[in-house]
Amino acid sequence: MNGEAKRSPRIAVIGAGMSGILTAIKLQETGITDFTIYEKAGRLGGTWRDNTYPGLCCDVPSHMYRYSFEPNAEWSHRFSPGAEIQAYFEGVAKKYDVEDFIKYNSEITRARYENGKWHLERGKETLDVVDIIVSAAGVLHHPVYPDIDGVDDFAGAVFHSARWDHSAPLEGKRIGIIGTGSTAVQITDDLIGKVSHLSLFQRTAQWIFPQENPAFSEQEKQVFRDQPQAMDDLHASLTRLFADTFGRAVIGDKEQMQRVEDTCRANLEDSVRDPELRAKLTPDYQAACKRLIISPGFYEAIQQPNAELVTDPIERVEAGGVRTKDGRLHELDVLVLATGFDGHSFMRPMDLIGRDGVDLKDVWAETTQAHRSISLPGFPNYFMLVGPNSPIGNFSLIDISERQLGYIMQLIELWRGGTVNEISARQDAADRFNASVKDAMGDTVWVTGCQSWYLDKHGNPAMWPFTFDKFCDDMSAPDLDEYELVS
Ligand code: NAP
Repeated sequence: MNGEAKRSPRIAVIGAGMSGILTAIKLQETGITDFTIYEKAGRLGGTWRDNTYPGLCCDVPSHMYRYSFEPNAEWSHRFSPGAEIQAYFEGVAKKYDVEDFIKYNSEITRARYENGKWHLERGKETLDVVDIIVSAAGVLHHPVYPDIDGVDDFAGAVFHSARWDHSAPLEGKRIGIIGTGSTAVQITDDLIGKVSHLSLFQRTAQWIFPQENPAFSEQEKQVFRDQPQAMDDLHASLTRLFADTFGRAVIGDKEQMQRVEDTCRANLEDSVRDPELRAKLTPDYQAACKRLIISPGFYEAIQQPNAELVTDPIERVEAGGVRTKDGRLHELDVLVLATGFDGHSFMRPMDLIGRDGVDLKDVWAETTQAHRSISLPGFPNYFMLVGPNSPIGNFSLIDISERQLGYIMQLIELWRGGTVNEISARQDAADRFNASVKDAMGDTVWVTGCQSWYLDKHGNPAMWPFTFDKFCDDMSAPDLDEYELVS
């Protein structure tokens, strides 16, 4: 079919983060320009816009964490700092004129399917009426605040790690950090040399995988500039290595998992001298059950004379600091809540009402599921990027999103062909897919007995329980027998 014969859909993209920027580029590439990206904030970048905490780095290697069509010879480090990643997204968005399509400060509160169109609303106002929605709302964007008494009574600055208060002085101050996830570890590593005292409040010990983060030399960058193929080769070899080792370990390859755990245990034993501290830092669950933390310097940081690992449970927060259950007041000037995110909301709190009034609230009342992470039965022409059961753990989300969008673009092409008006997963296909996900979860490390943001209220991980290769195969082309196609 030639270009002229195709229908031109009106499309809304929700979110101007990594996936939304990608969608804007790919839509333009296929000749679709009648679309708007609705962004709730005043700036693009998603998680890299929201997170600005000291020490922020991506723990996916830089040359894996990039759009396939925009390799970047200028990455400064093996694992790039957050500000550099934000600048990368801004640069790519500028190059592809993505800003022209973004409406900022435009949160969609409700999307409703009626008479073959999606109606996008903010409060009582209808912002748009479109044929297709691509939800690129991200995963980790709703901060979780701890249920601890007295947080509001604290006299100093108190904030969530994803809402960093850069006006709060840190130099020479007494800092408290609640949490020991990837975020808290990176903050600890960065701040230990700057603050007078750092109290790290640990509820659960974490496994730490050691990885150095060297800078790329000017010579290495020159090779990347002169031979962009070298970046693709590096990307391919890292992806293969990762898929064949860690990617297999988490879904039940016991030998690979033993290697991961042995490396973490050796890291702990070789790095932490004091047996009492070592015991406090030793997890009582399998490595990678929670998201594996990658850090070159955490153990060194927590052994500094101005660092204290606090393992007594928190009783409450008071004006002067944090009081633990042993009665001690840990006096603080600044309190950081590195308490993570709700990884199960996706595009919510936006309300989504599909065909015949079916409400996502009811569909997702017990657990968040979609067909191949992409489509929801009864919600025609609504497609998700990085939806439920995407391979989100330690993989490059950019790769994931690109492959999912490739699949979605094939569905959009069907609509453009003119014979299909409504595309949504068949209920029986979605049920079969989700039953296979549930079945495979039993072999994964995420269900071996730890608490993590991966798990929903029933203990179901929102993860991909199969190989990376299966994901690539599944995303190469939609099986149209799995879809209800209404003309
Ligand atoms: P997280 O992994 O969910 O960790 C939250 C921490 O807060 C945990 O240690 C948790 O303890 C603790 N916590 C929560 N509520 C608490 C309470 N009431 N009292 C005491 N402790 C409490 O969150 P995160 O560190 O922000 O990381 C979230 C995810 O963001 C990561 O898993 C990763 O996917 C992503 N991330 C990525 C990077 C990167 O480099 N790519 C960097 C940072 C974050 P428990 O363990 O006991 O629940």
